[in-house]
Amino acid sequence: MPQVSLIQCSDYTLGNLKDKIRTSLSNIGFDVKQFNNARVVVKPNLLMPAKEEKAIITNSEFYRAVVQIVKENNGTPVLVESPAIHSLERVIKKTAYAAVVKSEDIEVANPTITRTLTYDAGKKFKYFDISQAYFDADIILNLPKFKTHGITYMTGAVKLLFGAIPGVEKSKMHLRVPVHDDFAEFLLDLYGAMTYAMIPSKPIIHIMDAISVQEGEGPGPAGKARKLNAVLASENGIAIDYVASMIAGLDIDKALTVVNGFKREFGVSSPKQINVVGDTIKDLHVDDFEPATGSSIFSNMFRWPFNTPMFKNLFLDRPVPSEEKCTLCYQCKKICASGAITSSSGKKDIPDYDYKACIRCYCCLEICSEAAIKKERGRFQWMLGG
Ligand code: SF4
Ligand code: SF4
Repeated sequence: MPQVSLIQCSDYTLGNLKDKIRTSLSNIGFDVKQFNNARVVVKPNLLMPAKEEKAIITNSEFYRAVVQIVKENNGTPVLVESPAIHSLERVIKKTAYAAVVKSEDIEVANPTITRTLTYDAGKKFKYFDISQAYFDADIILNLPKFKTHGITYMTGAVKLLFGAIPGVEKSKMHLRVPVHDDFAEFLLDLYGAMTYAMIPSKPIIHIMDAISVQEGEGPGPAGKARKLNAVLASENGIAIDYVASMIAGLDIDKALTVVNGFKREFGVSSPKQINVVGDTIKDLHVDDFEPATGSSIFSNMFRWPFNTPMFKNLFLDRPVPSEEKCTLCYQCKKICASGAITSSSGKKDIPDYDYKACIRCYCCLEICSEAAIKKERGRFQWMLGG
């Protein structure tokens, strides 16, 4: 039966965090002595350069607390992550991670050196080019930030492993699997591969920063920070994502990596099998959490005839930049794998969007540092109740 440790925690004070993280690991039966002489990948969410208060990235003191616990037990922490478009070096430099990496003397692995991971049991994908650092590790600590997400509805432990694939290769995956259900299946294939197919096998522990999280149009600058006041830990990524979603009061049927994850039977096939240790979901539950507006009903219509330009424009949200906020930085153009964004033609001070080519992956919305891109409803979307 998968254990999920759930502990109330309302601030990022280092000593407090270390206590709660140590207790979390103990609650799930993980002995910190396993860090002795181990090379430990400690993977945060470093999506992009962002201030802590926006709750886009795993809090840097949360990261420091985990790293100190590893070091106190004679382990060697290694930071590896692959941000959306910026280099890892740049994101570290532009965030509070610069100070943490320096003062804790943390090795930073190059995420672009990759090796192929083979997973014969994959449903849609069997081969993944992931960062070599995961192969070199004895233990992987995955540190998700709990956030809403325009495609997967929520992002937690399962989605964070997507960062094992370097840089813009990630956005190209949206082109290969534009249907959101299929994208969730791809994420679950990757989760299955990293959990069960690494040779030699190694523990993956998920320690979730759900103290300050994102609601609304997460997981980037358009999302809103709010408190959820929880630290969670588990060896099971689906179980931990389920418990976090329940605290937030999300509609679990829309959390595709969780509901489809149960069907895969990756150590858990139903909520009834999850043993929550510490505080209860009821203790920490909030009833005013604002979900992402992305709807799996519409996004899963991305098959003929619904993927034709006319149907897309009538029935799906389209990403629209605002002239007031746009700085013409063209980060959106850089991340758009379908080539739907081009430089401004001069009519307006915003990039030009080709909505025929747009696959509605919302990567541009996710990375726009000015939160200048909004979803605009398709003209007949109301007909489908969205
Ligand atoms: S919409 Fe956002 S990402 Fe795109 S050019 Fe404008 S500010 Fe930059
Ligand atoms: S325009 Fe935005 S939503 Fe459309 S395909 Fe490009 S990145 Fe995705």
